[in-house]
Formats: sequence, structure tokens, C-alpha cells
Amino acid sequence: MQASLIVTGNEILLGGAVDTNGAFIGRRLHQSGIEPVLKISVPDTEKEIAGAIGKAFRKTSLILVTGGLGPTRDDVTREAVAGFTGKRLVFRRELLKNIKAFFNKRGMEMPPISSRQAFLPAGAAAVRNRFGTAPGFILRHKGRIIVVLPGPPREMKPMLESLVPFFRSIAGRKYAYRVLKTYGIGESVIEETLADIKNSRDLEIGFQAHPGQVDIKITARAANAGLADKKVDEVKRLISGRLGRNIMGSGDISFEGIAGSLLKRKRKTLAVAESCTGGLVSNLITNVPGSSDYFQGGVVSYSNEMKMKILGVPQPILKKFGAVSGQAAGKMAEGIRRVAGTDYGLGITGIAGPSGATRNKPAGLVYIALASAGRLNAEKHNFYGERAEVKERTARAALLMLINHLKNL
Ligand code: ATP
Repeated sequence: MQASLIVTGNEILLGGAVDTNGAFIGRRLHQSGIEPVLKISVPDTEKEIAGAIGKAFRKTSLILVTGGLGPTRDDVTREAVAGFTGKRLVFRRELLKNIKAFFNKRGMEMPPISSRQAFLPAGAAAVRNRFGTAPGFILRHKGRIIVVLPGPPREMKPMLESLVPFFRSIAGRKYAYRVLKTYGIGESVIEETLADIKNSRDLEIGFQAHPGQVDIKITARAANAGLADKKVDEVKRLISGRLGRNIMGSGDISFEGIAGSLLKRKRKTLAVAESCTGGLVSNLITNVPGSSDYFQGGVVSYSNEMKMKILGVPQPILKKFGAVSGQAAGKMAEGIRRVAGTDYGLGITGIAGPSGATRNKPAGLVYIALASAGRLNAEKHNFYGERAEVKERTARAALLMLINHLKNL
């Protein structure tokens, strides 16, 4: 089954909010075996929303709409769906009860205007909203299914999750999708290596490049889900065989996830001293649930004073080699390892740019050091890109350095 997504809201069109709902919905649909093929962003007007539904209606049998279910005058999605399908908006007593209960639970009276949210197009099935007042709804019309959910992500996401079994039941999946994550190899080299595996109607290979890392996306289509799974896994094995050691893994795998599971498996602990990444490495590491098992903590030692005071980096080192040097990174790594009492210490220093560069030390120059008992390694990198990209590449490179070390233990 294929799906369209309609995202409503002036704020999305004007850049006041970023459409994270679209990304979330696309992912969940895809994981449920439904193929999103169209996304339309529209302003908060009945005419535009109904027009988009019309377009989606011609293309796919499932249509998802988010936003515009609030109580105010600019929330017109209910009216647009009712208008397009020719259904009346019908008052639903049980929905009003839920909305009133939502306010009462918070010690408030329901504002009269909120009763608008208790009206749904005739024949619609309501979708319970536990984190807000607006119920969502599912409406079947002329062989199509229209699913409408509110805009605020904290309301929309759990509602969508509750619908995943429904999506799976209607999916009739005839395709399979896998992601292979690679590192340390560029998009063009991958393309050349896989040049003989041609894209066709039944097989699609695509790439998504991230700083320092490329995802290979494989989609296979077949007569049924089982055959599509078989085909996609064959291609996945073929590609893994060719790219060997550049393959990180498949699915939702991350550098920090791999580093974390290796640290856990090898019963090692880590602390991090960061300068140019400003805490990004610590942030990534602590995004992994259970990271307290192996991560002791981190220090953002941005200034020379902090590097000296907290990490004990000797002043002569900073004077002689500079704060951005392999020697300084090494002392930072050893310093944080000593302070935290961990098996490993990572030290990261560099020039994220665009300012701060000198003739000998260009923007993007980064040193990463890894200290362990009786051992110290340092790497030099010259990254390109904007400030945020350099920070991201540096963080990934630091995690990669740790991964490669742990893998060889
Ligand atoms: P409300 O009762 O808050 O009005 P609603 O269902 O009418 O809910 P909108 O008014 O369209 O939803 O959006 C409310 C807020 O939710 C927006 O200001 C925005 O911050 C967020 N939001 C809406 N659509 C999206 C989206 N596609 N992606 C991310 N955030 C969104």
C-alpha cells in the first residue's frame, strides 16, 4: 500500500517550525510496510487542505493529515475533510466528556471554544489523544482511508504509535527495505564498487551521506513480503561482502551505540575531555540508554585555563605546541582518564572554524587522542564543512577511534 502525507500549518511553510512530524510519520509507515510516496505542505486554509486531500486521493489509498485540529479559528482540518468527503460534522458526546476530563484533571474548566474539538465528520472513528484535547480520527471514503492527527508532536507521536498495528494490518506489504551503514568510505567509491548492481523496478539502491558516514538504502519489490525480504537480504549480503570492513551494521545502529555495546561487553569505562566539540561527544554517548554502565562523564575544557586547571595539561605544552595539537589532545586524554579514574580517556581539540584558523592551523584541523593504561594514541584530521559539520565529523571520528581500538582488544 502507498500513502500520502499532508502537513498543515503556516508555521511549517514559513519556517517557524520544522516538519518533524513528516519525518516521524514517514519512518513509522515505512516500518509498517506502507510506502510513503507523496508529501504536501499546505497553509491553514480549508481550500488548500481540501485541495491537497484531493490530490492525495488520486494517488494513494491511505492519506495522513497532521495539524489543524486545535480549537481556534485557524484550525480547519475537520471542516476541510468534511467538505471534501461531503460529510457533516457531527457532535460526539463521549469526545466532549474526554475533553472536559482533560481540563478538569489539571484543575481547569474547559473553555467553551474547545467544544469544537468534539465534532468529527460523520462515520469517523475517533483516535484517543492522551496528551492533548484534540481527538484524531480515521475516515473511510470511496475506498480510501483518511487518518487525521493533531500537529503538536508530543500528541501526534503516541497517537500514531497506537495506530501501527492498524497500519500493519492494511499494509499488504510487497516490498522490503534495509539500511546498511558504512563508515570511512565516500559515496562515490561506494557507487563505483556497486556499479554493476543496477537499479530496476524491483530493486532500488540509494545513498544518504552524513558527515563521515554513508547509509546505503536497499529496497526490493516482489510478489509478496517473503520474496521481497529474500531478495533484499541477498543484495544486502552481496554489498556487505564487497564493502567488508567499512560496514558498521544495519538498521538503527549508531557510532555511539556500537561504542557503548563494545565498552559494556569488554567491561571498560570511559571519560571524555572535549574542546572544539563542546560536549557533543558526551551528548551522543549519553543518548544511549544504559550509558551510565560505562560512561563516567565529560569535561568541556574550552579555554587553556580549563585545560590546565581541570585536566592538568602543562602550560609548556600549550605554549610550545598550541592548544590545537596532538600533544595537547594527548594530555587532555590522560588528564580526564586520571581525574575520572576510567579505563579510557578521550581528548579532543581542534578548530571548528570559520574563525580561529591560522596559516599553519586551518579550520577543520582536529586532534583526537585516546589514552588507556600505559598507552596513548593521537590522530590528526583535516575536516571540511561548516562549523556544525566539523563538530559532527569530529565527534564521529572520536567514537570511531574508540570503536576500532575496542574491536581489536
Ligand atoms: P493546537 O491545538 O496546538 O492548535 P493543532 O492540531 O491545531 O493543535 P497545529 O496548530 O497545526 O496543530 O500545530 C500546533 C503546533 O504543533 C505548531 O505550532 C508546531 O509547533 C507543532 N507542529 C505542527 N505541525 C508540525 C509538524 N509537521 N512538525 C513538527 N511540529 C509541528
